[in-house]
Amino acid sequence: MRILITGGAGFIGSHLGRLFIEKGAEVFVVDNLVTGNKKNIGDLLKNDGFHFFEKDIVSYDYKDLPSFDIVYDLASPASPKVFDRLSLEIIRVNSLGLIKLLDFFVKSKSKTFVFASTSEVYGDPKVNPQPEEYFGNVNPFGPRACYDEGKRFAEAIIFSYRQKFRLDLRIARIFNTYGPNMDPEDGRVISNFITQALKNKPMTIYGDGRQTRSCCFVSDMVNGLYLLGTKGNLEKPIINIGNPDERSVLEIAGLIKTITKSRSKIVFLQIGKDDPKVRCPRITRAEKILGWSPTVDFETGLGLTADYFKNI
Ligand code: NAD
Ligand code: UDP
Repeated sequence: MRILITGGAGFIGSHLGRLFIEKGAEVFVVDNLVTGNKKNIGDLLKNDGFHFFEKDIVSYDYKDLPSFDIVYDLASPASPKVFDRLSLEIIRVNSLGLIKLLDFFVKSKSKTFVFASTSEVYGDPKVNPQPEEYFGNVNPFGPRACYDEGKRFAEAIIFSYRQKFRLDLRIARIFNTYGPNMDPEDGRVISNFITQALKNKPMTIYGDGRQTRSCCFVSDMVNGLYLLGTKGNLEKPIINIGNPDERSVLEIAGLIKTITKSRSKIVFLQIGKDDPKVRCPRITRAEKILGWSPTVDFETGLGLTADYFKNI
């Protein structure tokens, strides 16, 4: 099996590449390292079946690449912390970059395509938990729009290519994911809280901390992505992948403080505009179609992630 992973030097992509290498596949990664890191794939680079191309998918011509059984498109900055600094890069990679990749997919006669979409397509949802049928509640003209609308436009592009060329294109709506290989500086809730807790520095809660998130450990996430890419014909091409264990941000801070035995204080800072108040996946479709559900409970996953952060 030959697999292409764009964004394969990032957090989730590096785990996905490792999983496919363990299963005996040949893995090609295209990544411009804008938010990824070669350290995430240091061990994989030594493997004969792993090929790394440091390229931007917005400008890459793909001329050195063969045809693939599965193409995973994970290339995109993903943390709200960079939405301001990398807004244009996010817009480009999720539109121009995706179109270039789909054109390569068609031309190379590759078989299955999986796009990494996000729970952010549901925006600040008025329905909780969020089923795949929900259209979302997104502000198209705000600080999160480059990402939220970028991913929504990407889904629209995929819909049109699917209709036009009858291709096997699939969409994973990924919910908050955490675990080893997260960038400690990426500003996301779990990485921030663990980094702060390990240094006994104040843990920064934005707003009153009553907003909720449902966090999925990365090994569960890549198992879900693996199944989504390898499953035979899919009736419904869009699938939520995430862990429905919904917690408030305040609760997440408390858990991390306990697990790391930290003396950190909890401080409350101003919350960003359009920060979703609730988020939780409905995963009945993943359960039924993929036979997938998460297996790592939150406390165990946080412990494993804290161990990783201690060692880097
Ligand atoms: P990440 O930033 O660690 O990984 C993204 C990778 O894409 C990085 O290695 C980056 O260098 C690369 N990249 C970005 N723009 C590129 C370009 N133009 N050309 C080539 N490579 C490029 O983020 P992640 O958390 O691993 O996210 C991976 C994917 O999953 C993203 O598409 C993200 O939107 C999606 N996602 C992630 C989460 C999450 O909680 N981590 C949630 C929902 C969706
Ligand atoms: N958050 C927080 N403190 C932090 C980082 C994040 O309170 O140091 C909150 C943030 O406001 C949001 C939630 O945690 O409500 C998740 O934020 P993250 O950036 O991880 O991802 P999001 O789900 O918003 O894309």
